[in-house]
Amino acid sequence: MRWWGWGEDGHEVSLPEPAVALLRDELGADPEARHAPVALEEVRLPEPRLPGAARSRLELAVGPEHVLDDRAARVAHSGGRSYADLVRLRAGDASSAPDAVVAPGTADEVRAVLDACASQRVAVVPFGGGTSVVGGVEPVSDGFEGAVALDLRRLDRVLDVDRASLTATLEAGLLGPEAERRLGEQGVTLGHFPQSFEYSTVGGWVATRSAGQASSGYGRIDALVEGLRLVAPAGEVGGRAVPASAAGPDLRELIVGSEGVLGVICDATLRVRPVPELRRYEGWSFRSFAEGREAFRVMEQADATPDVARLSDEEETRLALSLASSGGFAERAGLAYRRLRGHEGGCVAIVGFEGGEEDAERRRLRAGALLRAGGGLRLGRGPGEAWLRTRYAGPYLRDELLGRGLLVETLETATTWSGLETLYEAVRVALDRSLREAGTPGLVMCHVSHLYRSGASLYFTFIARQADDPLAQWRAAKSAASEAIVGAGGTITHHHAVGRDHAPWMRAEVGELGLELIRAAKERLDPAGIMNPGKLLPA
Ligand SMILES: Cc1cc2nc3c(=O)[nH]c(=O)nc-3n(C[C@H](O)[C@H](O)[C@H](O)COP(=O)(O)OP(=O)(O)OC[C@H]3O[C@@H](n4cnc5c(N)ncnc54)[C@H](O)[C@@H]3O)c2cc1C
Repeated sequence: MRWWGWGEDGHEVSLPEPAVALLRDELGADPEARHAPVALEEVRLPEPRLPGAARSRLELAVGPEHVLDDRAARVAHSGGRSYADLVRLRAGDASSAPDAVVAPGTADEVRAVLDACASQRVAVVPFGGGTSVVGGVEPVSDGFEGAVALDLRRLDRVLDVDRASLTATLEAGLLGPEAERRLGEQGVTLGHFPQSFEYSTVGGWVATRSAGQASSGYGRIDALVEGLRLVAPAGEVGGRAVPASAAGPDLRELIVGSEGVLGVICDATLRVRPVPELRRYEGWSFRSFAEGREAFRVMEQADATPDVARLSDEEETRLALSLASSGGFAERAGLAYRRLRGHEGGCVAIVGFEGGEEDAERRRLRAGALLRAGGGLRLGRGPGEAWLRTRYAGPYLRDELLGRGLLVETLETATTWSGLETLYEAVRVALDRSLREAGTPGLVMCHVSHLYRSGASLYFTFIARQADDPLAQWRAAKSAASEAIVGAGGTITHHHAVGRDHAPWMRAEVGELGLELIRAAKERLDPAGIMNPGKLLPA
């Protein structure tokens, strides 16, 4: 992945004219503006300060060729892929870069690295794909002799596929596409497709309680973990891979979502399903976001949930249609048809069904009847298939928008169905006000996805012209939205995890005693406190 953005060089996207016009007219974006990232050679990096003894022990642990401190490796591991990370990197600031990047190839090598770092007081940042959007992989070395990024991508084996039990044991560093490819060879799928799928890893998903785009059907990653292995500085702990157990509190739940602060997840046994015979995606239209939300609630509670279910609000629908080139999504979304049926200015939803042919078709018909009864208008397969084709396009588009001098950020939360409207309005108002106060009024958009019997998640995207101090502008908006989320009873994160950016709100999330419990586990597993300092727990 290129060090300042997403994807590889040559994977540029261009904005269609209606989108350029919308950004110009509503946000004041200069259509000609182009802000290129600085060259790699110009990036500012601190001198590596790893003590010689620590470096020798690391080389002994993994082999000298797997301890890197060249510019490219350090810059690439200096942060994740949040808007703030990219703003800093594009401007040439890699002041948070690790002193070295260490790449173990086995769980034993992970153990040897942790031993070396604990004895030398070197901080360790587990690094999967580095796609964290919450500051989860940014090294913090204050109070330590240095910091290393522990790049896990050499842990890339499929250890077992048990077709009879429908489980697969995967090593942590496997990237999404490779994991699916190898599972597919055995006729199974994990069904976990976050938007970052192309560059995120199995270990990263488990360590962050990730949710994929099809998690309404397949389940979030936490629902798919049957067993796992954590290598911590104090030793090894795990959850046995059994379907269910009454043997006291479930240790899996302590490790899943531990974001590298307790140790390194080296492998996980995950629940898989047969590769679906049928994938059927379609678009629906509703007159309003409120109408669509209610239809989704009824569908979910009637046990008619699609595998993918996402409903864009009016603003997100408007932007999506402007982004689609003519003859593309807009046409497929049946603009004329929607207008005719009084849905103009309303909302588009995507629902997708996967599985055995008969089962998927039965669920599709049942969900369709409920959506229609809830005011929905079926737009057919075109919009659904267009969404499926472009499901990973968002971060490429973000690079393009950043290059045009725009702020573009996403955040997410979840709450009960009865609290959804209040939460939606609170976050929208907070973001809108914050952007106006910065003198850069923005577009604030949202979609509902990830349905549960008791509620759903809300995923916000906001876009504005960058202010003179883009990081201060971003910080103010992020903080306003986080306060609004907590104030309106939402969770501070439904799937992006806590990292550094959400840590200040963890007290509101789990309470003081809850924090002490997590700290106690950390002190026992990581007595020297070297594991991913500054993340998950507030200072
Ligand atoms: C464009 C974009 C779209 C995204 N879409 C989604 C989405 O749809 N759903 C979603 O859930 N998230 C999404 N994310 C967030 C991110 O991709 C997820 O949090 C993902 O699970 C991180 O995986 P990773 O391998 O990149 O982990 P990293 O970013 O490398 O690490 C994330 C955290 O986990 C820790 N960690 C990583 N591997 C291990 C390990 N083996 N053991 C212990 N700790 C470890 C790290 O120290 C860090 O704290 C998105 C991010 C981007 C940039």
